Amino acid sequence: MDTVLHYADQFVFDKLYAHVWPSYTKQIAGAIVSSWPRDDFWRINLSLFLITCIFGWILYLVTATLSYYLVFDHDYMKHPKFLKNQVRLEIECAVGAIPWMTMLTLPFFTGEVLGKSMLYGGMPKNVYEWLYLAASVPSFLFFTDCGIYWFHRWMHHPLIYKHLHKLHHKWVIPTPFASHAFNPFDGFLQSLPYHLYVFMIPMNKYLYLFMFTFVNFWTVMIHDGEFISHSSVINTSAHHFVHHVYFNYNYGQYFTFWDKLGNSHRQPTDEQYDKTLRDDQKVMARQAHDAEEIEGETLGLKSKTL
Ligand SMILES: [Zn+2]
Ligand SMILES: [Zn+2]
Repeated sequence: MDTVLHYADQFVFDKLYAHVWPSYTKQIAGAIVSSWPRDDFWRINLSLFLITCIFGWILYLVTATLSYYLVFDHDYMKHPKFLKNQVRLEIECAVGAIPWMTMLTLPFFTGEVLGKSMLYGGMPKNVYEWLYLAASVPSFLFFTDCGIYWFHRWMHHPLIYKHLHKLHHKWVIPTPFASHAFNPFDGFLQSLPYHLYVFMIPMNKYLYLFMFTFVNFWTVMIHDGEFISHSSVINTSAHHFVHHVYFNYNYGQYFTFWDKLGNSHRQPTDEQYDKTLRDDQKVMARQAHDAEEIEGETLGLKSKTL
C-alpha cells in the first residue's frame, strides 16, 4: 500500500490537499502546497480510505457486471427463490457496505504504510528468494482459506448468524453482484485472514497487491452461477451455490480441504452441472423448500429433521 499511496500522492492527493487545505506559509518552486504533509497520520488514513473505497467500488462493479453479462446463467432468475429486484438490491447492499468494510480495514492498511507489517519490497535476488516468493502463493491461499472457513462456519452459529451473516444468505440464488453484498462486519471478518497474514508472515508487497486483487475476482467468480469445473478439490462456483442453497456446507473459499476436514463438504451434483436439470421447475421448487427448512433450523425456528 505504501507504493500505491506514493503514486496516489504524486498524481492526485498532493494537488487535491493543496487545493482544499493550502499552506499559507509554505510554497515549493512557487506552487502552493498543502498544510497537511504526506506523513501526517490522518492524511494517510483519509488517502487510504479514498483509494481503497474507490478501487473497491470499481473492481466490484466492473468484474461483477462483466460476469453478470458474460458468464451468469440468466435462467436462474426464474428460480422461486430469486427475489424481485434482486440485482438492484445486491448492488445497493454491496456499494453501501464497501465504505464501511474499508473503514474497518483501515488500521491494517495504515499499519502497512507505517512499516508495521511484514511486507517487503524489491525483486528477489537469488534462487532462494524466488522460491520463497513462489511458496508465498500456496502459503497465503492455505492460511486465508483456513481463516475464512472458521470465521464463516462460526457465523453460521444460530446465535451469531442472524446478526452478522443472514444478509449474505438473503441471496439464495446469488448473482455475481452478491459477491460483496454483506453486512460490513461480516465482509470484514471474512477478509481479516488476508490482513493478519502480512502481519505474521513475510510477503512481497507486490505479490500481496496482486493476491488481494485476485481474491476479489475469485469472490465474484464463485457467485457467477456457471458451473464448468467438476473439481472436488477446488471450491468452485457450484460448491458455493450449494452453500447458498443448502446452507451448512462448503464454507471454504478456494479449496474443499477444510470442509472435508470439518465434515461440511458437499459435492455439487447434476442438479448444478446439468443445464436441463438445473432449470427444471421441480428441482427449483425442492431447492426452495430445502433452503427454507435448513435456514429455519439454523435460526432455531424449526427443529432438526435431518
Ligand atoms: Zn454462509
Ligand atoms: Zn456467497
